[in-house]
Amino acid sequence: MDTNKGYVAFVGAGPGDIGLITDKGMECLRKADVVLYDRLANPRLLRYTKNECAFIYCGKLPNNHIMRQEKINQTLMEESLKGKYVVRLKGGDPSVFGRVGEEAEAIATYNIPFEIVPGITSSIAASSYAGIPVTHRDYSTSFTIRTGHKCKKNEELVCEPKQEAIGETLAYYMGVQGLPTICKQLLSQGYSGDTMAAVIEWGTLGKQRVVEGTLSTIAEKVTAAEIKNPALTIVGDVIKLRSSIAWFEKKPFYQRKLIVAKSSSEESSLERYFTNNGAEAYAFPALKAIPHSYTKEELQLIMDTDRLIIASKEGIDILFSQLFMAGYDIRDFPRRIEYMSDKTRQELEKRGLRCARAHFDDSSAVLIGDRWLLTESTFSDNQRVLPSHTIEIDTRYQEINERLLTEDNWETVIFPNKRSIDIFLQEWNKYSDRDPKEMSFAAIGQSVKKYALLMGFKRIDEQVQQELDKKEWMRDHEWMQLYTLDMAAL
Ligand code: SAH
Repeated sequence: MDTNKGYVAFVGAGPGDIGLITDKGMECLRKADVVLYDRLANPRLLRYTKNECAFIYCGKLPNNHIMRQEKINQTLMEESLKGKYVVRLKGGDPSVFGRVGEEAEAIATYNIPFEIVPGITSSIAASSYAGIPVTHRDYSTSFTIRTGHKCKKNEELVCEPKQEAIGETLAYYMGVQGLPTICKQLLSQGYSGDTMAAVIEWGTLGKQRVVEGTLSTIAEKVTAAEIKNPALTIVGDVIKLRSSIAWFEKKPFYQRKLIVAKSSSEESSLERYFTNNGAEAYAFPALKAIPHSYTKEELQLIMDTDRLIIASKEGIDILFSQLFMAGYDIRDFPRRIEYMSDKTRQELEKRGLRCARAHFDDSSAVLIGDRWLLTESTFSDNQRVLPSHTIEIDTRYQEINERLLTEDNWETVIFPNKRSIDIFLQEWNKYSDRDPKEMSFAAIGQSVKKYALLMGFKRIDEQVQQELDKKEWMRDHEWMQLYTLDMAAL
């Protein structure tokens, strides 16, 4: 690879559910210096990039104009010519109505090396999530992908069904506005008014909605349900299977819209758990850990202490890598190491260190961890605080927060700890005019619940609260399965 010229990876982000991106796509994201992403690529995927990676939104510019294709091509070219690894992240598959042909051609003209990483296209994925297999031995042996968009300008392009295709599966992308025209044309070309049709909005995400009807009724039903883009129209007998295999809609939290308040830079296991159970969940705000560079003297002080207390999980990586680089070995570590949370304990145990839970008394100790957390607490004079990092709001997510917090009608906020409540209240108003306390809430542990009530939240979301109390969500964390769970420590 000619590194001077940089590199462009056109990556299919998959249809929405972040688990549906490929491994290869994920690898590209981890390497990226810049990501140019579309509205339909799930922005949660950007969390897997490096801290220094820049994000460029190609949906709308701040002045609300769609970023023009030439401008996108030009940015791809400019960024890669600076020697950067550029990811062009596109919803679904880049080659299916994704303009990858145009963009790759532009890049090829400059001899910039590139690759195209396929993704699962939304028609197939959304159909599967709606309980509609696109082919079936009894109902359909062909599957046709079409655009419903061209119908406004060029009616012939929409429908040219060959007689033999009738009864088989059709998928229309970008077809919400043009739906009445699509139906009319299919009817005029011999399709029966009873032919089944389904429209899937935001397929594969917790906010997915499906409207089912026939070619005579679907357009009206879609208008009544106020279905908007992105949505797909599927036509064909395979829709019959929905009544028996629509699995995603049966998930207990399907269509529930939940914000998970955050207080650390780690991936939220609550967001993952509720998403896997059918919810539209969004961990907010995005936080990043800014590491502190310890001096030689500080590292020596840490090594010399009789008792090292580690206050947060992120601090372990930061401390251990710096100690290793400075020539220390794990066998030089203080004999007594204590942790303040179960997440920290797990991280230590992964490294083979069996530690004790911290008990606060006046005896001497060195404390490391997140600066904010440590300055909140009071310590005695012989306890030395050496923060390993500072947690900061990740400002790269501004555009994403603006979009996601206003696009959806969030119902409930989940608070994992007290600090998450403070951060949430401080950040929410930057993005939404809505009083956050109108939302219902759920919390982990009694003290957090009390604090939320004190801060003005009123209504508990019983369904979510019960789920949290069951503690099942912790079992999603493979490492946690080994333990008797101690909620007080969270
Ligand atoms: N490259 C994309 C398609 C881009 S065209 C792919 O392979 O899926 C944009 C259209 O894709 C939208 O108008 C809508 O019809 C469809 N689409 C994309 N994501 C979708 C989703 N999650 N649910 C429903 N339709 C979706």
